[in-house]
Amino acid sequence: MNAIRIDGKAMAEALRGRIASDVRLLQNKCRVTPGLAVVLLGKDPASSVYVKTKARQARAVGFNSRQYLMPSNVGEAELLELIEELNADDSIDGILVQLPLPAHIDRWRVLEAIDPAKDVDGFHPYNVGRLAAGRPALAPCTPLAVVHLIKTVARDLNGLDVVVIGRSNIVGKPLAVLLGDAGCTVTGAQLQTRNLPDLCRKADIVVAAAGCAGLVRGDWLKPGGIVVDVGINRVIDSTGTAKLVGDVAFAEASDRASYITPVPGGVGPMTVAYLLANTVYAAVLRRGLSLVTTPETPDISRPSLVGKNLQSKG
Ligand code: NAD
Repeated sequence: MNAIRIDGKAMAEALRGRIASDVRLLQNKCRVTPGLAVVLLGKDPASSVYVKTKARQARAVGFNSRQYLMPSNVGEAELLELIEELNADDSIDGILVQLPLPAHIDRWRVLEAIDPAKDVDGFHPYNVGRLAAGRPALAPCTPLAVVHLIKTVARDLNGLDVVVIGRSNIVGKPLAVLLGDAGCTVTGAQLQTRNLPDLCRKADIVVAAAGCAGLVRGDWLKPGGIVVDVGINRVIDSTGTAKLVGDVAFAEASDRASYITPVPGGVGPMTVAYLLANTVYAAVLRRGLSLVTTPETPDISRPSLVGKNLQSKG
């Protein structure tokens, strides 16, 4: 088998195109420009790159994009004050505080200070609970991206067996909820899981989100299965060069699977695109705008949530 690569970069570009046209629609029909505020503490190189990318793409789709760069030793009270200001600022629809935060800051206090209606990362317990209950919610971007990528190659997920490796709050747990809602039978695996290779061999889809380079080997996979690699691991190759690899042994897995996402160029670009999609969604929900065909729950197969029939409730 020579697996087909699922091109997350191209899909993210297409999604951003749809988001940009939604923004124009919102501006023309409702005089609304979605606003996204990204907050970064310190100068961690990886976080700085993520924040710049998010801000650049937000501008490119027509958002009001703001960046707040604070020193790493900023006090928690000052950060909470900024969040309060952004919560109260009507031109801002989405607030993202880039993680990880310095050790002296209580991450949960910060995440819970964000207005759930502007919580475009979907990390606030209010949104976590709504998602678990099957209510409309801002869901985390990476799980939304993973489901989107899977749906492009397996339109009907009903009854499929999925192993999700990793059960963090930002990837594994919400992804298990979304895939369960989509009709899959989900096994959530973690470090303590026994017989992980055997579990994976029985699965139609394996999603690796462990942060462990090359964890998933080719012979762990069902022939013809789908593999989504969320992991991002910095390794040094045999020439001494640093490079990014996923959690899946890519060449071996490509020999067994029918579809596979590469790292880089798979889940990563789609995650950023979903941050933009969530900001549009937040702008629509927060202002009480409605679609004539309002989805009862966010339709993850149709991430561009603003329809042609957008109208103001008021
Ligand atoms: P995390 O450290 O919070 O959680 C890792 C999970 O994987 C835990 O539940 C742990 O029990 C499990 N795990 C670790 N090693 C394992 C093993 N050997 N076998 C089975 N389970 C194992 O990590 P996270 O924040 O969820 O991130 C996971 C990976 O995904 C990281 O590489 C991260 O960089 C990457 N990531 C990528 C994106 C993206 O946009 N592509 C977004 C978020 C995270």
